[in-house]
Amino acid sequence: MRYRTLQWIQRVLAAVSVVLMVSIVLIIAQLAGYDLPMVNRLIPQGLVGAAFARQVVLISGHAGYDSGAVCTDATGAATLTEAEVNAAVAERVAQQLRRAGADVLVVDEFDPQLTGLQADVLLSLHADSCIDASGYKAASSPASALHAIEAQLLACIDQHYPAITGLAHHPNTITHDMLNYHAFRTIDPQTPAAIIELGFLGGDQELLRQQPEVAARGVVESILCFLTREQTTD
Ligand SMILES: [Zn+2]
Repeated sequence: MRYRTLQWIQRVLAAVSVVLMVSIVLIIAQLAGYDLPMVNRLIPQGLVGAAFARQVVLISGHAGYDSGAVCTDATGAATLTEAEVNAAVAERVAQQLRRAGADVLVVDEFDPQLTGLQADVLLSLHADSCIDASGYKAASSPASALHAIEAQLLACIDQHYPAITGLAHHPNTITHDMLNYHAFRTIDPQTPAAIIELGFLGGDQELLRQQPEVAARGVVESILCFLTREQTTD
């Protein structure tokens, strides 16, 4: 090989290593919590995924407040509470999204951190009463300024949650409480938010109690879908 060719190869390799080094430093800085918006644009999305460095907040429904819906045995003793189901799913969703590079915060139902909270997405995890019914549903605030964006989030949930969990959509029981959910009014109005009822403690107990990881995967895929759509429409 000629000396000049060798020199050229050497230069190319040096340039490639500099680019790699800079990328690694930027990724580490971002993971360490420094907000570097340009990094998201520089790094090819195929390499890091839509969740990378995005801020996701999960409300573990009823945590720190009450037990939510309850299943009881013949003596009236609680056999399953909504709060424990919500917490088990929230913990698994957080774990999986963190693995995908997201910055995930799990908060209590009335967590003070919700006041003015800014994030790429907020999802509150709840489950329905202990009756013999089945299905999930999700809602966002009809009064939200982010109506179109939140419609995307709900569409992502409708696309992925039933496909993964096998649960049907159960829209007829979307309540006033869901539409006027307290956190919708507390967080920053620029934070897209929704509340999901993961299933019924009664009819969907097997899924919610024995397979919280399946419900969690349904939520994770829904959030990833939303973050991907948001990125492409930014
Ligand atoms: Zn609830």
